[in-house]
Amino acid sequence: MSENVFCPIPWNFLAIRSNGDLRVCCQANQSKSRGIIRNEDNSAANASNTSLIASRNFELMKNVRSKMLQNEWPEECIRCQTEEKTGLRSRREYERENWFIDNEYVKENTKEDGTIVIEDFPLQYLDLRFGNNCNLSCRMCGPSDSSSWYEDHVKLTGKTEYWDTHGKVELKKNAAGKFSTTDYDWYNSESFWKEMNEMGSGVRHIYMAGGEPLLIEKHFSFLNDCIGKGFAKNIILEYNTNLSFLNEKIINLWEQFKQVRVGASIDGMGDVLEYQRHPIKWDSTLKNLQILDGLKENIFSWLALTITNYNVFHVPEFIKWKLKESNFKRINSSKKKPIITHHMCHSPLHLNIRSLPPELKELVTNKYKDLIAWGNEQDLTDYQKKALENIVDGVLTYMEAESYKDWDYFIEYTAKLDRIRNQNILNIVPEYAPYFQK
Ligand code: SF4
Repeated sequence: MSENVFCPIPWNFLAIRSNGDLRVCCQANQSKSRGIIRNEDNSAANASNTSLIASRNFELMKNVRSKMLQNEWPEECIRCQTEEKTGLRSRREYERENWFIDNEYVKENTKEDGTIVIEDFPLQYLDLRFGNNCNLSCRMCGPSDSSSWYEDHVKLTGKTEYWDTHGKVELKKNAAGKFSTTDYDWYNSESFWKEMNEMGSGVRHIYMAGGEPLLIEKHFSFLNDCIGKGFAKNIILEYNTNLSFLNEKIINLWEQFKQVRVGASIDGMGDVLEYQRHPIKWDSTLKNLQILDGLKENIFSWLALTITNYNVFHVPEFIKWKLKESNFKRINSSKKKPIITHHMCHSPLHLNIRSLPPELKELVTNKYKDLIAWGNEQDLTDYQKKALENIVDGVLTYMEAESYKDWDYFIEYTAKLDRIRNQNILNIVPEYAPYFQK
């Protein structure tokens, strides 16, 4: 197999969406299939009632492996393909650096149609999104990502239903008079935890997101189980968390694992963060960041920043703050993650910076070029200066690569959600005034 298109994920990883649907990986959501693994009857394979192990040889997984064996990009992997073309670091590149897999072994032990013998490729990495239970309703999320979105979804769309990969979700009022659904409660399934317990000893890395993973009590039981069975010292835990919840109980558990990596979803400071990740509070988030920065050596963390139309103008200020004012000793201090760890908001398309009109793209370009000039005047290491250039290059190249036609909808959507949440985009991005004051 050629080195070029190979990715370790289809061979050794398992990924579960927040609704329990099994998928190739989280990056595969840009394709027609959205990377969802399906049963023979075409229904989505769901962790609540499908064997995790058996699903590894379902049709889509075989197809992805087979394409990679032929050195062709699978359709599911278009996001990595695009990111690499525009100079951004793709997840595929990240995983290839982190996992050693012998290409010859892979070739010899994978059939032409992509079938593998499960025992030849034990699961080493689990990507688990424990439902959609979350205390925030971030603007780039929706009801499938966060239970806190239900009320706003109904106000925004006038509908009590929406579609997810498993089918139609119907929101119904609960005893407290709030909209709710049980569609995301798959992680209470006994068969799921039985399989998890059986595979525990071979697993080396568990990535957890939600919803908000630190809200999920069952996940703490699982961590306790891993500690009790003696697996914890072999396992790296990785989180994407909004960092609203950080307490002694969590920290005590984390200290017993081989390593804990915490991607803190912090997209900016003050009002910008509070706008994009409503109803988070910057002051308490900053306190938790400072605690995180001082934890034991086995726990390290980074600012996992999502760049959208809401914070794209603010990111340079946030970077300056990180470099000169935050006083963080360890957050984003490694060579691999030297300043911030940014991701582009690919969807929804109206929040993607490719939807900005040309004159706003020009303003963004000027602002990011000024950031480079600022960096050159600062007492930064060569490595930090290079990292700064890479961030700027990556964002600008990505932004200019395409022009999406979703700006009008961005205005309509933002204005409506502002009214629902009693917020005002112009306090966050004054550059948008000519468009919103029309
Ligand atoms: S190439 Fe990218 S999209 Fe495809 S499996 Fe790997 S990480 Fe996922």
